[in-house]
This record gives sequence, C-alpha cells and structure tokens, in this order.
Amino acid sequence: MGNRNFNIEIKDGNKFIEDLVTKKFTTIDGEYIWDLGFDTLPHCTVNKPKNYPNCCDFHKSIKENAIKKFEKFPHCCDFHRKLVKKDWFKKELYNHVPEKIVKQWIFLECFMDEHIEKDDWYREITDYFDYVFDSFGTPTVGISDFIGHMYHYLKNNHFKENFPLWKRKLLIEFINESLNVKKNTEIKAKTDINILHGTYQKWVKALPSVIKEKEKLEQIFPLGVLIHSPHYNRFTQLTKYKTRTNGEFIEILINTTKSFLLQIDSTKVADAQKHQLEIINESHRIKQVSLLQTYSKKEMKYIKILNIWLKNEKDYFHELNSVLHPLPMVTNNISVKNEGNENIINLGDNAVIQIQAKP
Ligand SMILES: [Zn+2]
Ligand SMILES: [Zn+2]
Repeated sequence: MGNRNFNIEIKDGNKFIEDLVTKKFTTIDGEYIWDLGFDTLPHCTVNKPKNYPNCCDFHKSIKENAIKKFEKFPHCCDFHRKLVKKDWFKKELYNHVPEKIVKQWIFLECFMDEHIEKDDWYREITDYFDYVFDSFGTPTVGISDFIGHMYHYLKNNHFKENFPLWKRKLLIEFINESLNVKKNTEIKAKTDINILHGTYQKWVKALPSVIKEKEKLEQIFPLGVLIHSPHYNRFTQLTKYKTRTNGEFIEILINTTKSFLLQIDSTKVADAQKHQLEIINESHRIKQVSLLQTYSKKEMKYIKILNIWLKNEKDYFHELNSVLHPLPMVTNNISVKNEGNENIINLGDNAVIQIQAKP
C-alpha cells in the first residue's frame, strides 16, 4: 500500500552528511520529519446510520468538534503553534482533516462491531487502531480529538450490547499505552543505536583472545539482538520491532560472556604453554583496558567475570606446573653443609643451588 509519504526537512545539511560519514548509524530527529498522513480504508462492511453524522448527539458532536477545532488550528495548542515556523507549513495542507475525522470515525465503529466477537478480536482491533493513529501523519493533526472520541465511545458504549466491559477496558489500556509510547519516542530515539554500538564495541574489546568468537564478533554488529518481538500489522503493512534498552543489551552481553567462558575447556587445550602465555598477556591487557575505558556499574559485571576467570586460569596452570615440574625444596636460611663428598650451599628464597663435587 505504501501508506506514508515522508518528507525530511534537513536544516543542517553539513551535520547530516558528517553524521553519515562518521557515525555507524544516523538518526533523524523526529522534529524534521513530516508527512500529511493518509485516508484509512474501512476493511469491513460499513453500515452507516441514516443521516450520519446528524443521526445522534454523539456523532453530531464529532462533526461539530472537528470543525470548531480546525478553525483555531494551528493556534489551538503549543504543539501545533510550532508548525507556523516551519518553511513547508500551510494551513491549507490540512483542510481535509475535519472531513477525515467524521468519515473515518464510522469505519472504526463498524470495524470494532464486525470483529469484537471473533477469536482474534484484540489483535485485529488494536492493529486497526495503530493504522488509524498512523493515518494522522507526522506531526499529528486531529488525532487528539479522534482519541478523545475513542475513549468516550469505549467508556460509555451504550449503543452496542455485544461489547463487554472487559474487552473495552483492554482496548482503553492499549490506547493509554500507545499514547505513552508516542510521548517517549523522542527520549527513546536519543538513546540511539550509536550508543548501543559503543556498548558493543567496548565489550568485544574486553573479551580475551582465548575466546575464539572474538575475531568474528569484531567484524559484525548484531542488530538482530537489539530488535525483537516482530509484529506484522496487515493494515499498515509494517512490521514493528521493539528496541532493547542499553541496560537490557548489557544484560545479554553479560550472559554471552558467561556462556563463552563455559565453552573453554582448559583441560583439553592443545598447546598448554601457548594458552598459558595468552592468559597472562590477556589478563594484563584487560587490567589496562579497564583502567583506560569508562565502564558503567553494569558493564563492570562482565569485566569482573573476565578477571575472575583469567585469575582462575592462571592459578590452574600454576598448580598444574607445580605438579608436572616440582621445584627443589628450598629453605629460607643460608646454610653451607658438608655432607660426605658434597658441599651444598643454600641461599634461601629464589636461590641458586650449586652442588659441587669434591675433588
Ligand atoms: Zn449517530
Ligand atoms: Zn492543537
């Protein structure tokens, strides 16, 4: 369907190009994107009441409200007042809005009516809601009135008998949540994907080279881990994903660290000497890395795990060596003994032991 026709207003062209070159991902601030929305299709049989919208007080009020609000637009509220400053803005672009609200309101009522008793009523109706919300464009014009009517309809539905209260409550909850998400989109967009990319790179850098996946991990960025729970909406024809927060992402990195380390079986290392050398070097390197990089409290969890693991490895090989190559017994006192035909000179710790045969 290709519902949306986005326009991007790029004020600072240089910054945009620079971001494209220097950052792995570029995000465009929502403020600079605009589209006029689209007409929703009924996706159901439309049973318009006779004389709609002049059939009853509720429908009459939808029409009157739409006209009255549009007269004041864009001076109706702070949000819309900002539009006046945009180069592209003309009130005429939105002339269709009052008619859209009235015409498409009845589609929504009929759609709910037709689907409310079906098994998949919740998914169908909420997907249709999302489709309707999207149809009001960016920035939205007219949506707050439309949602106001939705609340009113769901709270005081005395027209329809087949619409039980618990279902209406769930739909009201869905609208509340959608509104919250819309409000928070701007904040969320700013914990943008570049931050997550930085988090990822820091983690890969900290991994010791004995983890054989490290080399491969340096080449990729696991976008699939950052987005999850795909949901396809047949009306908007879009698949939406949820994005992980930085905290959630670090949690995944901590667990991945653990599972990598679990896979290393030191008792089966082919070249024990090489492995041991690598462990010593890596444990030194990670100490340096954690001094020079700033890790959050949460990120320190995987650094700690790596440090403990490396220390255990060192201890293990140290013990192994002492079993395989036992050192001669050394006492702390310097002593010279004359035993038979040998002089044994003991110099204590770190001693050089010389054994001389008497002529
Ligand atoms: Zn009516
Ligand atoms: Zn307004």
